[in-house]
Amino acid sequence: MYEFEYRKPASLDQAVAMLDEDAKILAGGQSLLPTMKMRLASPGALVDLAAIPGLSGITVAGNTVEIGAMTRHAEVAASKEVAEAIPALADLAGKIGDRQVRNRGTIGGSLANNDPAADYPAAVLGLGATVHTNKRAIAADDFFQGLFETALGEDEIITKVSFPLPEAAAYEKFVQPASRFALVGVFVARTGSGVRVAVTGAGPGVFRATALETALGGSFTPAALDNVEIAADGLNNDLHGSAEYRAHLVTVLAKRAVAAAR
Ligand SMILES: Cc1cc2nc3c(=O)[nH]c(=O)nc-3n(C[C@H](O)[C@H](O)[C@H](O)COP(=O)(O)OP(=O)(O)OC[C@H]3O[C@@H](n4cnc5c(N)ncnc54)[C@H](O)[C@@H]3O)c2cc1C
Repeated sequence: MYEFEYRKPASLDQAVAMLDEDAKILAGGQSLLPTMKMRLASPGALVDLAAIPGLSGITVAGNTVEIGAMTRHAEVAASKEVAEAIPALADLAGKIGDRQVRNRGTIGGSLANNDPAADYPAAVLGLGATVHTNKRAIAADDFFQGLFETALGEDEIITKVSFPLPEAAAYEKFVQPASRFALVGVFVARTGSGVRVAVTGAGPGVFRATALETALGGSFTPAALDNVEIAADGLNNDLHGSAEYRAHLVTVLAKRAVAAAR
């Protein structure tokens, strides 16, 4: 590791003031620190969000689950409130990485990083959640903008994510065993305003599978997807799986998710 400055703000305003152009936000460090060790990033300073009050925690109120940006994956996985309100979300958090990653990694860090194979983006897009920052509220459909790209500005900090309660939902993940990220993951949600299907791992970024949404809008059953094929064009093609294999997995996992949805 090379030298860098460590900054620990006590408020969001202080954090913003400390975020000069050479600085990066530090949350759980599970993506940023390996990136620095491999010299893929070399920020001059890290601004650690850990001491800022109010950025961590889970609230279930009315028809919404709110999760603070600094909430660890393990907390979401273990939360009885989340398991009751949106079981698919607790289940997804419990499938992220290994124990160490779940004990350090945060939802805000995962969303800001927007790894194309990360799990949380599928839940956020699949449930039509809203990402709140120190500046604004961003709808999931506008937040994810491709490979490691989001709508976040340079000095914008995610503060929390609010998830509307679905009628039923489930997440199915086909694990890439070396990294534990999703080779393909599919989040299916039946909501009051229609069916949403979000896919991670298969392409350069999380995306909605509209052909599956249309078919499931007609009949929310696995059989409704029997004749729906996902095109392999533009999907990831690497040593872990061909684009055709991933395309096939999307439909298979979507069917399993529909069968498991509750
Ligand atoms: C071995 C291993 C296995 C993993 N397996 C999985 C897996 O199966 N599924 C999965 O989804 N993920 C997996 N991860 C990634 C993990 O989920 C991380 O938690 C996540 O990628 C980043 O969260 P973090 O809190 O560690 O963020 P950090 O690494 O601290 O930060 C990541 C990026 O987000 C920015 N950032 C952090 N917080 C905020 C904020 N509040 N506002 C704005 N920007 C912010 C940082 O500046 C940085 O650019 C794995 C990681 C490792 C090391």
